[in-house]
Amino acid sequence: MASHRPRKRFGQNFLKDKNVIAATIAAAELTGDDHVLEIGPGQGALTDQMIGRVASLDIIEIDRDLATFFQARPEQHLTVHVGDALRLDWSAILLDPPYKLVANLPYNISSQILFKMIEHRHLIERMVLMFQKEVGDRLRAEPSSKDYGALTVLCQLWFDVSRVALVPPTAFFPQPKVMSEVLCFKQREQPRAQVDDPAFFTRVVKASFAQRRKTLRNCLVAAGFTAEQLEKVTAETGLDFGRRGETFTIEEFAQLAHGLQNI
Ligand code: SAM
Repeated sequence: MASHRPRKRFGQNFLKDKNVIAATIAAAELTGDDHVLEIGPGQGALTDQMIGRVASLDIIEIDRDLATFFQARPEQHLTVHVGDALRLDWSAILLDPPYKLVANLPYNISSQILFKMIEHRHLIERMVLMFQKEVGDRLRAEPSSKDYGALTVLCQLWFDVSRVALVPPTAFFPQPKVMSEVLCFKQREQPRAQVDDPAFFTRVVKASFAQRRKTLRNCLVAAGFTAEQLEKVTAETGLDFGRRGETFTIEEFAQLAHGLQNI
């Protein structure tokens, strides 16, 4: 393992800072009953702290050389899945819910992974994830700020998001060019707003932020909703489609999705 040369195409920046590793593991609040999924174990910086401490640990690693190293390990309750976490069927892996997800994610796929996590939220109780700081800013953003977007709304609807640690490039080998951030996502007992149809809500939210400079009316019409539909929603709810999507609170998006689907 020591001879493994980090592969840029897999976003391999290995964690070496013991304090960051400890803070990440502490935020997961692991117990012996937990089932954990780690995406991208790499050389095991986080994995080694979890093996043997939890009821089961599933790891997904795209790099065959690194995965082979884990496959050769004798530990029970460790299951290695070799492949692309974006393509694998998580419902065939997350067989013993609820799960905790722990990952130092490759930055180039972190948003896509997060959308996939949100899709599987019914199987997940908590996530502790490392992101590029700019992505972290988006996930913790408030309405009407430049960082507020579809990912913010979808994450905060289901999860309470908090920062665990701000992480400098020196915490990794090789060092990335950007600052990073570990975030904890705790599944809420109730979503922040009542959403009837999560798939439709997701479609509306994504459409609302598709063209950030345009009004919500233009975004929604571009996504196939009609001006007449929007007028009816305004008459019923008072929502103003002259505003931009980034000014809408999560509750307003829920009202909007409900209106578009039911009026
Ligand atoms: N967890 C290790 C650590 O903290 O040192 C490694 C983190 S490194 C930033 C990202 C890891 O994700 C690498 O091991 C990389 O090979 C793996 N990886 C990259 N793309 C992946 C994908 N699509 N599916 C699964 N693993 C992936």
